[in-house]
Amino acid sequence: MAMQCSSFKFDLVSTEDHARRGEFHTRHGSVETPVFMPVGTQATVKAVSPDMLKGLGARIILSNTYHLHMRPGEKLIASLGGLHTFMAWNGPILTDSGGYQAFSLAKLMKITDEGLEFSSHLDGSRHFLTPEKAIEIQEDLGADIMMCLDECVAYPSTREYVNASVQRTGLWARRSLAARRGSSALFGIVQGGVYPDLRVRSAHEISSEAFDGIAIGGLSVGEGHDLMMDVLDSTMPHLPQDRPRYLMGVGTPKDIVEAVARGIDMFDCVLPTRNARNGMLFTRKGRITVKQARYRQDPNPPDEDCRCYTCRNFSLAYLRHLYMSREILGSVLSTIHNLYFYLELMSDIRHSIGEKNFDELRKQIKEIYND
Ligand SMILES: [Zn+2]
Repeated sequence: MAMQCSSFKFDLVSTEDHARRGEFHTRHGSVETPVFMPVGTQATVKAVSPDMLKGLGARIILSNTYHLHMRPGEKLIASLGGLHTFMAWNGPILTDSGGYQAFSLAKLMKITDEGLEFSSHLDGSRHFLTPEKAIEIQEDLGADIMMCLDECVAYPSTREYVNASVQRTGLWARRSLAARRGSSALFGIVQGGVYPDLRVRSAHEISSEAFDGIAIGGLSVGEGHDLMMDVLDSTMPHLPQDRPRYLMGVGTPKDIVEAVARGIDMFDCVLPTRNARNGMLFTRKGRITVKQARYRQDPNPPDEDCRCYTCRNFSLAYLRHLYMSREILGSVLSTIHNLYFYLELMSDIRHSIGEKNFDELRKQIKEIYND
């Protein structure tokens, strides 16, 4: 059996029912959980610098293996000192396996137990991704936390197909562990679609291996909030307490508080950054669409109670003007606000679990974001 990675450690600090507050330690520093990881697809969190990210309270970011493998290539990044140096981010970085984009963005040609054959979304060139190759790329990038290659199934998929994908995901998980050479942490991924018994089987299989953390994959693919929570209800009791649990690609503020209530520790999602560029802001009073005519002369900030740089300095009228004029600063200021909202929400969640009033915060967020 492969040895558990020595550079990674997770401590539980306190709990409130199933919600957990904790901390994990990596080669690039410690991270308090529950945590939200801003998405830096192309070795950049769009519209903000690493400096700004730190100031907003981001402690760990996610980067996408598929994109960096295609362009500029992990060997080039390694020759320039690795991803941390390349993008000037000195905090922890989690990288995905590249599998999800091979399924969703590239043209998938063939999938066998050996790996995935796909053609690049950039130039149509053919590529073959195996569990071993996914680890090699992530080690070249210098990720603090790596993810196993897994098979993401579409929603809906037949039970027979999902069953086969769970089997393949387990096989690939063991091969990923065996392929690890360095001291990066490695997380296994639970699959199983929306079939409770397949989720339980996958949870047991992945948890029995020496992974540093356990991720739940294959959700937020169109099944909806309620079904996602049903899957968590059936899966979470079968995950070990002593390792972090990461819900991949999730989600809305409501998804996050409900998943924390079920014992999830880590999240990533493009929503705050992507929505910011589309002129949609998250606030403690609900969503704001900045292009609306009602904000044309509005002298108020998006959220009077928000202490972010944007809300302390700019009016909705100005943000609307930037958006309508397609000015870059509009994306920057909106991204600052939305990331601040998400990171502040996570900070409030952590403190509330410590104070045993998380349930109150959960109710508030569900009232505001009840869709
Ligand atoms: Zn703000």
